[in-house]
Amino acid sequence: MRKINDYIDTVFTKQDALLEEVIASIEENGMPAISVSPSSGKLLTMLVTISGAKNILEIGALGGYSGICLARGFGNEGTLTSLELEERYAKLAANNLAYAGFGDQVLYRTGPALDSLAQLDEEEQQFDFFFIDADKENYANYLEACIQLAEPGALIVLDNVLARGSVADPEVQPKRYTSFMQSFNETVANHPQLESLLIPLGDGMTVAEVKK
Ligand code: SAM
Repeated sequence: MRKINDYIDTVFTKQDALLEEVIASIEENGMPAISVSPSSGKLLTMLVTISGAKNILEIGALGGYSGICLARGFGNEGTLTSLELEERYAKLAANNLAYAGFGDQVLYRTGPALDSLAQLDEEEQQFDFFFIDADKENYANYLEACIQLAEPGALIVLDNVLARGSVADPEVQPKRYTSFMQSFNETVANHPQLESLLIPLGDGMTVAEVKK
């Protein structure tokens, strides 16, 4: 998986000085190196552009790498709401989004995402694109909450669904959430409100459309 991803990153992504600065800022601040890969980021940008999404909800901001990739998809005509547990991470992400030119178009809500999702539902907010990339154990809860907040035809993208390949390959050391992710993937694949496909890019991204 790693060699294939390195190959795809090398051939299909260009050097990106801004995103490299974001990665450096994450390291300087002692935060984990768990941003999406360059190709996964590019896929996010392309999916937002192709779908024409203008109102995005992200779960799991870290330092803003995926946030910038999402915002690049809508340019100067969209908004990103991003949910992040850690106040410190959300501050760095906000700085990085401002540095990238999206300061006025992004809003961070800190604290457990499940609480923020309940608030968004109370406020009757709706979104046309979702990116779920936080604590894996809550993916099933996040998915249902996002469907609840989705406009018909919205896209929901989920990261880390291959758990480094361990969901499919018994020879790969299982992750703590491997068996959960195996049953979650089946739930998504058979969900009556979704049309979905797992793309084996990065650590695996599922793209799901909320049926109209
Ligand atoms: N999407 C980011 C990117 O590619 O730039 C990476 C996100 S990182 C894999 C996961 C993030 O989810 C971390 O910043 C972590 O603090 C956050 N997180 C973990 N549990 C959370 C929770 N219960 N609610 C909100 N955010 C959470």
